[in-house]
Amino acid sequence: MATQTGAHDVDGGAPGEAGGAGLDALMGQARRVLRDTFGHQEFRPVQGKLIEQVLRGDDVLAVMPTGAGKSLVYQIPALVLPGCAVVISPLISLMRDQVDSLVDSGAPAACITSSQDASVRSQVLAELAAGSYKLLYVAPERLDDQRLLAAIDRVEVSMVAIDEAHCVSQWGQDFRPSYLRIPDFVDHLERTSGRRPRLCALTATATARVRSDIAAGLRLRDPRVTVSSFDRPNLYFGVERPSGTRDKDELLLHMVRKRVDAGQEGIVYCNTRKAVEQVCQLLRDSGVSAARYHAGLSDEERSRAQEDFAFDRASVIVATNAFGMGIDKSNVSFVIHYNMPHDLESYYQEAGRAGRDGEPADCILIYSKRDVQTNQFLIERTYDEAIANGVDPSVAAASRDAGLQRLRDMTIYCTTTDCLRSTILRYFGQTDVPMRCEHCSNCSQDFDVEDATVDAQKVISCVLRLAQRNRSVGKAMIVDILRGAKTERIADNRFDELSTYGIMASQSKQHVRYVLDALVDRGMLAVSGDRYPTVGATPDGMRFLSERQTFELKVPRRMPRVDPTQVHGSRGGVFGSGSSGQGGQGEVDEELFERLRATRNRLAGEAGVPAYIIFSNATLADMARRRPTTEEDLIHVNRVGVTKARRYGEAFLACVRGEDPE
Ligand code: ADP
Repeated sequence: MATQTGAHDVDGGAPGEAGGAGLDALMGQARRVLRDTFGHQEFRPVQGKLIEQVLRGDDVLAVMPTGAGKSLVYQIPALVLPGCAVVISPLISLMRDQVDSLVDSGAPAACITSSQDASVRSQVLAELAAGSYKLLYVAPERLDDQRLLAAIDRVEVSMVAIDEAHCVSQWGQDFRPSYLRIPDFVDHLERTSGRRPRLCALTATATARVRSDIAAGLRLRDPRVTVSSFDRPNLYFGVERPSGTRDKDELLLHMVRKRVDAGQEGIVYCNTRKAVEQVCQLLRDSGVSAARYHAGLSDEERSRAQEDFAFDRASVIVATNAFGMGIDKSNVSFVIHYNMPHDLESYYQEAGRAGRDGEPADCILIYSKRDVQTNQFLIERTYDEAIANGVDPSVAAASRDAGLQRLRDMTIYCTTTDCLRSTILRYFGQTDVPMRCEHCSNCSQDFDVEDATVDAQKVISCVLRLAQRNRSVGKAMIVDILRGAKTERIADNRFDELSTYGIMASQSKQHVRYVLDALVDRGMLAVSGDRYPTVGATPDGMRFLSERQTFELKVPRRMPRVDPTQVHGSRGGVFGSGSSGQGGQGEVDEELFERLRATRNRLAGEAGVPAYIIFSNATLADMARRRPTTEEDLIHVNRVGVTKARRYGEAFLACVRGEDPE
């Protein structure tokens, strides 16, 4: 059932314990915490609904894209409800970031990790048992630690929140067997306290299969399932192809330089360690401060790279997909993919690390055909390894075929002339999607519309002639037959005797392929078979011939209306009139903005936390627009809560008054 927010309930569960006036009071408190602790004025639509469900006592499963604001769905109820919430999270860096940020906002939180030394851990456990925390973050591997359980048993556990809940699914990419132990932990809590805490599971992975695995694997009870809209309107999506005049490296360099020169920071993703090394060197050679991150580096090198980027010492981080789950930097203005990822799930998750602060940001993918072959090769290699490791061949084959299908969908995204945003959203199962978003490289490109009826008839006829001989072949072969190629395979199969052989001999290979792909896209031809996909005609295709329908083709003009290297997520967003709709009116004083930024960076350096933990660039821009003179004014600045206003207010107010220490 779609609602106005684009979110929908997949399954309505039974209502939980709190209701009526009690629930209203809790929601009132939740709104105050949102303002005072987190500095936000309004709940995002889906957030408010989910928080209400959690406060009511329901088990909740929330599927929301990266950057949608999942953390508050459990952090706010944790601060409102009596007792302490246990948050299960897969990565230490992710936990640390969240805890630092909470503590900085005045919320009592801590984490227990394997990297803490014994004395720190004992201290945290003692504080926990004494009831000092509202949130405790733990890795799933620690859930049966007896000392932890003994401390937890002394406090009321309000909720168990499971972040990155797709880790419980064997079909997800990040399966963590220890997530399967979570229900035992919940049983333990129920046994010792006589009360089962509510469960709140969150993920950005949307497929129905993973969703039902989460509900079953975590033993959620009558869960409220919400799948929120995956749209991220502040993100601009683009696909760019290297051309004869500008190769891949040149294209990348140009795009990165332009953005870095505009004061932006971003991520460049590559598929291999080798590519990371080369691209990082390429950027450094041209004067860009770039850090590199991949699994072949030591832990120390990796955490240094991550810190350089988090602390704004490096403008760009060049990384493999090993970089990601732990990064919570909200002011990333661009994510450029130097290689095509193997599926849209990975792409959207990685690209989604841009613009988490709601400011305009760019997600650009550089497409080259070779990446399709590399990905195919990697999927096949994974299959071979699985077989060599004794995995059941039918399981390995199913996983490989699913991987190849996902790769095909990823390739369609890179080659389609349709709106990129709607292609992504439809892939994630959203149906209420407009045809054009006007904010992607396809919507901003000019197309010529050509009548291609005769060409379409020729292509479909060729497929039907083959079918009459009980043959179906792949796309490349169809193109060869239509263009009258003289190959051994054609001669061996006597395809040169078909009446359609050579009837498009005067057309370019690209054009014939373009028509063929367009017919598949529009459902007149269909591709089937996973390993060796072949093309067949559909009832729509037959109807097209028998009813003599017309067929129009959208052909991109040579010159796109928009320069492919144009910066969309520009500082225009930060300096404009407040793109997130929450900023103040008027012009940003750029000189003040730079001074506020220097103050913020100095405070961050002193406190040893990343700059964005204190205030994001968007917050500083709003401050430079509003020029607050009192602590009260400061609280009206976008994303400034009471605690932060108190803690940092004087330094920033002094800066507005022109009294910077420098
Ligand atoms: P996710 O976990 O879904 O990727 P986060 O919880 O990290 O997203 O939130 C992403 C960003 O959105 C953060 O910078 C956060 O401060 C911001 N945010 C969350 N809720 C709100 C809100 N109600 N109003 C404004 N900004 C919000």
